Amino acid sequence: MFKPLLAAFLAAASLTACTTTSASTAPVAPPIPIAAPAEVRAPVTILISIDGFHPDYLKRGVTPVLSRLAAEGVTGPMRPSFPSKTFPNHWTLVTGLRPDRHGIVGNRMEDPADPKTVFTMASDNPAWWSAAEPIWVAAEKAGVRTATQFWPGSNVPLGDGVRPSDWQQYNQAITTTQRVNGILDWLRRPAEIRPKLLTLYFEAVDSAGHAYGPDSPQVNAAAADVDAAVGALVEGLTALGQPANLVVVADHGMAATSTSRVVALDKLVDASFYRVVEAGPYASLTPLPGREAAVEKALIAPHEHMQCWRKGELPARLHYGRNARVPAILCLAETGWQVLPTTPAEPRRGGAHGYDNMAPEMEALFIANGPAFARGGTVPAFDNVDVYPLLRDLIGLPQAPGVDGSDTVFRSARAR
Ligand code: AMP
Ligand code: ZN
Ligand code: ZN
Repeated sequence: MFKPLLAAFLAAASLTACTTTSASTAPVAPPIPIAAPAEVRAPVTILISIDGFHPDYLKRGVTPVLSRLAAEGVTGPMRPSFPSKTFPNHWTLVTGLRPDRHGIVGNRMEDPADPKTVFTMASDNPAWWSAAEPIWVAAEKAGVRTATQFWPGSNVPLGDGVRPSDWQQYNQAITTTQRVNGILDWLRRPAEIRPKLLTLYFEAVDSAGHAYGPDSPQVNAAAADVDAAVGALVEGLTALGQPANLVVVADHGMAATSTSRVVALDKLVDASFYRVVEAGPYASLTPLPGREAAVEKALIAPHEHMQCWRKGELPARLHYGRNARVPAILCLAETGWQVLPTTPAEPRRGGAHGYDNMAPEMEALFIANGPAFARGGTVPAFDNVDVYPLLRDLIGLPQAPGVDGSDTVFRSARAR
């Protein structure tokens, strides 16, 4: 971009010189317009989620771009919040609150305040989401323009109806290339309508992990595809002359599962005594009226490969169980096992997440790379509630009081 501009400038300058030296003999040439100098762009912040990407995938030799961003930026082991599911953790990453406080306590939820409706991953009723303020609402209120190429909750109007200035309804059919092009197109805009905080989301690694397990060639292929998409983003940013602080995260990792490792609830207690709200790495359930004692007696007892608690008695380290939306009983499987309503009819192997958030298999990817970060830095293990305070620093917002996380862990990893 610089060279043609310089050439135009030199051409104009030499023409001006010609016209002045031969002014008495030749007609005066009309002035040649000189293009404005190229804009010096301030860094933007791009939060990228690669759903279900365990940091060990970086060691498989299939992610040259992400591995380079990690080596030349900052990495560290990030623990998800409990439950290690997609919606609770995406909402934690952008609010700095654990699920019990931000209200998205599962991918599927019931609320005693409104027993007729069930929350699913397609629910955009603000009532489900309004206990916390995501970073894009805080940013927009402070005059920092935001844009989301998908993020759970970013299609929901919050507070006085605030959404990101630009947002996209989630659609799995939009390819990784189209998503990256969407980000680059937004950054190609004139400065007044250009976002300063952007999000980008990829589900392919998680989908392959569920279908084939974390150690499958399909996960490696999906990781390679997403890696190439991040590479295209980095190249596009360079071509635009757009510096960026990239914060690449996952919401959780992935553990191998098999139908040979299942605890069937109906073998322990009459299935007509309770309603299962979620099942898999953990099952949450609500005993039906009059059946509470029978369900508790059967479940709140020692079991192989599973432990159940009343919601108010969950281990403190899970920070879970006080929210009204958490069902009365939660049964957590040993990592790699599943708690299901009944024994599956067909044998199947695959992957799942939702386990204890301290389980090594649930660890989540974290890479930060850009002018704000040291080169080749590492940070000690931290909880994903700390990402929101980091994002506030990057976009120039003061820290918000009362959140569960803090930016302390990243201080030594910032560029000096
Ligand atoms: P999980 O069941 O926890 O593995 O959730 C992962 C799935 O969440 C992905 O396969 C996506 O299809 C879905 N998902 C991710 N983001 C969104 C969104 N913004 N809206 C609806 N579904 C989403
Ligand atoms: Zn996920
Ligand atoms: Zn998943």
